[in-house]
Amino acid sequence: MRWRDRRQSTNVEDRRTMGGRRLAVGSGIGGIVVVILYLLLGGNLGDQSPEIQLSPDAGIPSEGRALTAEEKEAGAFVSVILADTEDVWNMLFQKDGKTYQEPRLVLFSDLTSSGCGTAQSATGPFYCPEDETVYIDLGFFADMQQRLNAPGDFAMAYVITHEVGHHVQNQLGIMDQVMSLRGQLSEAEFNQAMVRLELQADFLAGVWAHHAQRMKDILEEGDIEEGINAAGAVGDDRIQSMTQGYVVPDSFTHGTSEQRARWFIKGLKTGDLSQGDTFSGNAL
Ligand SMILES: [Zn+2]
Repeated sequence: MRWRDRRQSTNVEDRRTMGGRRLAVGSGIGGIVVVILYLLLGGNLGDQSPEIQLSPDAGIPSEGRALTAEEKEAGAFVSVILADTEDVWNMLFQKDGKTYQEPRLVLFSDLTSSGCGTAQSATGPFYCPEDETVYIDLGFFADMQQRLNAPGDFAMAYVITHEVGHHVQNQLGIMDQVMSLRGQLSEAEFNQAMVRLELQADFLAGVWAHHAQRMKDILEEGDIEEGINAAGAVGDDRIQSMTQGYVVPDSFTHGTSEQRARWFIKGLKTGDLSQGDTFSGNAL
């Protein structure tokens, strides 16, 4: 995709040079499945869970270090994409007579503290509604390329804009609505509501791409395929079959690969927020 020589967001906080102790943790990819459910169930990343193990001194920075040229480039890319989301969502909110509060984005290495507890690489990228911040360890993108076979800059943009999609849901009150269902629904039913929330974030990533293309002509040959491939690659069915060797439908929290790709494409094609109701109707 075309991204150079565009505005970089001022809402990025780069904590990568703060370092942090490497922890022996489980799968880096499996974490992404867990964290959003865990957070939305009211969990704190500081609690103990099989996937998220913390050391007592978690979050305490170790010695600083300089970023490599490659890391600087990756940081610039993320800042441009975040700026692109600001431009698109400011415009779309304004059109509806609303004000978009821009989220913050923290880049970190290994682990860092967040409004939702300690974040670490194994958690995968996530959005914390408490401090309205997206947390990304860029090591996840290497995982996407090497383990999930989802390479390409637009694949990375998809991940960032999906997380920003959760912020949009938070701004629109959708996240609160879904959270208020907790306790009223069975675990399986609530999980279904979570899947719908995730698929809507995929749809919103597609809506972003639609308008970013109109405003800035960002797409190059193959980008859409990269995004669709990435949406599919991080589907829960595929992740679970990789980390566990089987899939457990009731514990799906993001939707299947096919569902994720389909909702992303719907947003991309229509660019129309009113088309993104993933909550009504039986079919996802
Ligand atoms: Zn998500």
